Amino acid sequence: MRVRLFFGLFLLLTLFVGCQNIVKSGGNSDEMKFERLFSWNVPKNEEDYERCSQAGVTDIVVHNQRQYDLALKYGMTPYWRCFLPVGPHPQVMTPEEEKHFAYINGQDIDKKAPDRMKEIHRRRREKKHRYGGEQEAPLDTLNNTRIPCFASDTDLSLSKQKLDDLLKDVPPDNKGMFLDFFGYMNHHGCYCEGCLARYKHYLEEHNLEDSSKNKDEFYRQQLLDYYDDIIGYIKSKHPDYKIVAHFYPDFRPDHLYGNRTKVDFCGQTVAWYFKWPAPKIKQYTKYVTEHAKDYYPFAEGIPFVGLNTDASSSLGFKTPAELEQELKVILAAGGRTLMVCDGRGIIEPGYFEVFRKYCTK
Ligand SMILES: [Zn+2]
Repeated sequence: MRVRLFFGLFLLLTLFVGCQNIVKSGGNSDEMKFERLFSWNVPKNEEDYERCSQAGVTDIVVHNQRQYDLALKYGMTPYWRCFLPVGPHPQVMTPEEEKHFAYINGQDIDKKAPDRMKEIHRRRREKKHRYGGEQEAPLDTLNNTRIPCFASDTDLSLSKQKLDDLLKDVPPDNKGMFLDFFGYMNHHGCYCEGCLARYKHYLEEHNLEDSSKNKDEFYRQQLLDYYDDIIGYIKSKHPDYKIVAHFYPDFRPDHLYGNRTKVDFCGQTVAWYFKWPAPKIKQYTKYVTEHAKDYYPFAEGIPFVGLNTDASSSLGFKTPAELEQELKVILAAGGRTLMVCDGRGIIEPGYFEVFRKYCTK
């Protein structure tokens, strides 16, 4: 009798465990993992490099030989420095956009005022400022950053000089480079004399009328040309380099245009610092991964996630549990690689465990 009871219990237990396994292998997102994690951050010491590696970071930007060596020591691929656009003058915005820029940066507030940053965060919340991500207010601009008018670097002389400088002491076995801030600080375009003259010429050349659609296409084309000119120059010197980019700031007329460029690892935002609804994260992930090779067969679409772990800032904040939900949505939508900024959050308690769970084997 006893033996039969034990046997029966054993059978039940086997069935129970078996069922659990079926559930897991049937697509439970707890079981799905990212194969590659690109991080935008520079760990401050060796211990943090090790923690990044333990969290699953595989690809990371570095700025000097020490960082390069530490990345290699902990099994990560280093990319030698990050190139930002260069031009002869800053981009030009409308007077209204300039006014907004001044307001959200507190340019009228005394630099020594004790509550200056508190007031700046209040203003950014009030204006629904999105830190370069997709706008929620009718008008938004970047804060603090004035991007140069890269389109006015017409013969690329300033950009080439900067690239030469960044790469002059590159280690011989380096694998690539990061690009950032290829965009417009008002999310639309630059209205300097040079850009307006080029736009006029573009309309004449293509026999087009002045319309918002044509204007958007022109400013998108300026971005595409600059990406490809810069990548072409880097690869003329280092044909094997892989180029990693986050498409930022957001280009409002076409959020996901990155696949039109020759970027190898094309990081496009699927979840911003500010929480986006799951269906939007799913839709963007599917587009970024499924349409990555629409223009260039070598390109890989990398879902980008914004992460800020400081709840007191006017930049969006996520708890580790909220981050985990987003990663599950990306995995379920087919994302198998990930890019994160600010990468410092990856190794913070709570967040570290989430990345380790989904980004390591
Ligand atoms: Zn311009």
